Amino acid sequence: MSLVERFEAAVMNTYGSPSLGLVSGSGAVVVDEAGRSYVDLLGGIAVNLLGHAHPAVVAAVTAQISTLGHVSNLYASAPPVALAERLLSLAGREGAVFFCNSGAEANEAAFKLSRRTGRTKVVAALAGFHGRTMGALALTGQPAKADPFRPLPGEVVHVPYGDVAALEGAVDGTTAMVLLEPIQGESGVVVPPAGYLTAARAITARHGALLALDEVQTGVGRTGYWFAHQAEGVRPDVVTLAKGLGGGLPLGAMIAFDGAATLLGPGMHASTFGGNPVCCAAGLAVLDTIESEDLLGHVKQLSERIRRGVEALGHPLVTGVRGAGLLLGVTLAGPAAGALAAVLRDKGFLAQAAQPDVLRIAPPLILSDEQADAFVAALGPALTAVRAQ
Ligand code: PMP
Repeated sequence: MSLVERFEAAVMNTYGSPSLGLVSGSGAVVVDEAGRSYVDLLGGIAVNLLGHAHPAVVAAVTAQISTLGHVSNLYASAPPVALAERLLSLAGREGAVFFCNSGAEANEAAFKLSRRTGRTKVVAALAGFHGRTMGALALTGQPAKADPFRPLPGEVVHVPYGDVAALEGAVDGTTAMVLLEPIQGESGVVVPPAGYLTAARAITARHGALLALDEVQTGVGRTGYWFAHQAEGVRPDVVTLAKGLGGGLPLGAMIAFDGAATLLGPGMHASTFGGNPVCCAAGLAVLDTIESEDLLGHVKQLSERIRRGVEALGHPLVTGVRGAGLLLGVTLAGPAAGALAAVLRDKGFLAQAAQPDVLRIAPPLILSDEQADAFVAALGPALTAVRAQ
């Protein structure tokens, strides 16, 4: 039996059937059980910033698990302390970091922290995605995912994304928190109008509400900045991170800045594995490598290279390329993204339909110029093949 068949027989299929069984990976390349190689332009959905088996991550994880594995929240260990210090220094702010294991958990922590303002209303964005646990699902602005599970916790109001007037209308003196993605990843790499986050900051400040940014997908270098909000110079109260932070290991974080840093006190929140030394050591290796290899600069130039390459194809099925850094959506003239991803897979490139008409790529930041060029070269014939279908 193939891995996919065994998966279907034994693993709860809550996501959809896997299309491949993968057995190994190195850098941006993964290998399936039939021995075929693919350039992984999804990186575990915006996770593997350094690709697979990066020597720095392997060394850090090996050294840490050989020295000190899990410790409980009763004790401090060096990796989470150093990672928290590092994240605050990269943000250039005062604050405190809560470690957890996933994006949903980081957003749950933000949700809970927001209650400590004494207010309950949360304003989030339609089509936004914040995770699948009950609280995170309540924050997520996608009724199709939420409806089968109502009632959901909290008092969450969803407004159209990118619309300052709608935000202005929804936020008032009862609002505890506004939660937004700097770019909506899951709903198709949707970039808000310039100045949106700045306006959100001004509106929340005026009403004494927290501004929380979900950087689970956009954070840790993906957009060419350590945090996407730094592109606009916005100062949120809370930032949530996960995905790429752990170098492929489960690691989430909520950073609370300034006054928000003391809203959750002793006894109020915890997670057994939060701040796990091995995951945090991997996180430090990720940050060190992004810095030492100037991957932020690489991301910016590669982003432009891919954009220009796709635009230069001049293909009638492509209506544009949007996103930032290495979180890009190729928008199509019709609902062809699923078929396009399938054709690209057959050509040895993994990408995904984030929406029926948007092909998402979120490759490792270490993707080479040659791999990016090979993808663009494969995209032209793939688009033509899909158009002929
Ligand atoms: N927030 C955003 C912006 C995400 O893209 C995701 C995952 N796609 C999540 C939260 C949830 O993260 P996790 O799957 O680690 O719970």
